[in-house]
Amino acid sequence: MQFRQPTLTLWILFAILCSLPACTPAIVDSALTDIQAIWTNQPPDAPEEIQQQLVAVDVHYYGFDRKLHQGQVVIHKELAPDIRQLFAVIRETRFPVESVLPIAHPLVQLKGPFGLSPDTNNTSAYVWRPIVGSRTVSLHGLGLAIDFNPRLNPYCKGDLILPPGATYEPTKPGTLTPGSRVVQAFKELGWEWGGDWAEKGKVDYMHFQKIPSQLEPWVKNYRK
Ligand SMILES: [Zn+2]
Repeated sequence: MQFRQPTLTLWILFAILCSLPACTPAIVDSALTDIQAIWTNQPPDAPEEIQQQLVAVDVHYYGFDRKLHQGQVVIHKELAPDIRQLFAVIRETRFPVESVLPIAHPLVQLKGPFGLSPDTNNTSAYVWRPIVGSRTVSLHGLGLAIDFNPRLNPYCKGDLILPPGATYEPTKPGTLTPGSRVVQAFKELGWEWGGDWAEKGKVDYMHFQKIPSQLEPWVKNYRK
């Protein structure tokens, strides 16, 4: 009888520990090698010197199925610590994310050449492409921007809405809003949110970007 209470306490402790993410097996959405994630299925004009700056970061998040998933973010190596820290917030606050697949992932490639289809709800960072409606390379093309749940957080400029047919309903789970803990966490680390761009004549709710000060000269090489 004297061992009953400690035994019960141990079982409760064990149950608490096993409810933590580290103990919960994640559904693996993406587990590509660096070669697969960064160097394959890319547009032929993607500059190698940019690809050499990229890393594939393993991240964990809860999907809309409320289950823990593992995906990967291809990002500039200088932003990898931020991405790890931000996905810890995303996981802890259970902000639902549909999927986090590199653009090189076979499931993304199925949607369009080099995975460039705008009709997606996938969360991704690096993709070699220009800014929408421009010839200047997007910060995504330098691995310095990330888009979340595009169908819930569309890009809107005049009549143009991407993904096509998407609507912005701030009360829906997985939507980014000014008061969202996820948006606050990005801003605390110095990231800019596209949801704040109304004065630019557009909003890009899905989009976050950051140019670390040490990379400003490097970015100017590509955005003159
Ligand atoms: Zn973006």
